[in-house]
Amino acid sequence: MTSFNDIFRKQSWKDITSSIYAKTDKDVEQALSAEKRSLEDFKALISPAAAPYLEQMARMSHELTLRRFGKVIQMYVPLYLSNECNNICTYCGFSYDNKVRRKTLSSIEIMQEVAVIKKMGYDHVLLVTGEANQNVHVDYFKKVLELIRPHFSHISMEVQPLDLEDYQELKPYGLNTVLVYQETYHEEDYKKHHPKGKKSNFLYRLETPDRLGQAGIHKMGIGVLIGLEDWRTDSFFTAMHLDYLEKQYWQTKYSLSFPRLRPFSGGLEPKVEMSDRELVQLICAYRIFNEEVELSMSTRESERFRNHVIKLGITSISAGSKTNPGGYAVEPQSLEQFEISDERNPSQISQMIKEQGYEAIWKDWDFSLTS
Ligand code: SF4
Repeated sequence: MTSFNDIFRKQSWKDITSSIYAKTDKDVEQALSAEKRSLEDFKALISPAAAPYLEQMARMSHELTLRRFGKVIQMYVPLYLSNECNNICTYCGFSYDNKVRRKTLSSIEIMQEVAVIKKMGYDHVLLVTGEANQNVHVDYFKKVLELIRPHFSHISMEVQPLDLEDYQELKPYGLNTVLVYQETYHEEDYKKHHPKGKKSNFLYRLETPDRLGQAGIHKMGIGVLIGLEDWRTDSFFTAMHLDYLEKQYWQTKYSLSFPRLRPFSGGLEPKVEMSDRELVQLICAYRIFNEEVELSMSTRESERFRNHVIKLGITSISAGSKTNPGGYAVEPQSLEQFEISDERNPSQISQMIKEQGYEAIWKDWDFSLTS
């Protein structure tokens, strides 16, 4: 069976980086005026040469998003189920070598958390865990999905990558969306950031979106952790991966995220800093390259920045997030995976969205319409 790896193996990180940095004004202008943008055009849009075109890119991104998605922003919230993890990841507060108290929520605790989330108005929840297969496994996920399915119209998951059969098994339990971020496509440095645990298997992670497509999962989210490597090259690989997936699994929906490394207990400093202006450039470049893809922004980003980008191409946003298991009700003081930046509650975010002439939507799509 073919996978993205077949294409990935033919690429050279070094050559791609050089070709992005070699793009000129002419390449950018050509990309902006093209009817349909190629991956070469995407390189031009994320290149340093595109920086002076940011206003034009922002206008274009705004118009394309409006045309495809209307004036709505979807709201979602993470529910951290567990901070147990057998992996060492250099950038994460839940890393195995970080001596913190570990916790996996029980059924009763999950329902306590759900009660608070429902009170906030949410109908779309993102389940998050570390990777601890001894306690947090497919049977645990099935139990959680059964428990919470009556309370949400859309359930997303950001957990360890699973086998094809596992995704096939979970789908009937109400699993709608799976997020799996490659973190970085720089294979050598990926190994440095993931020295221990199943996550150190670069290829298994790289091929996870293929397994999701084969399992017929409704939507998948991909992306990298910005700050680990050159953001331009990593974002190019993300766009290339998306391009491949859309052609291979055309019935699946896609979303992209662009998290920047945030402080956490015992934390890693970003190797590469990305400015706010550069993040705006990337958001606009993704939208101009791909009119269909959903673009998601979490509470990692600041209040000011999130206010600013609402109209530039973003289609979903989280608010009131807690990044620790039990953070909403059971154990609010436990260790967070990372510090959030925008601390406004969901109704404040909803109000901010309204003030910009948009509407906050509290669910993604209605499961009952498709089952
Ligand atoms: S990023 Fe995920 S896999 Fe890595 S240490 Fe954190 S929770 Fe575990």
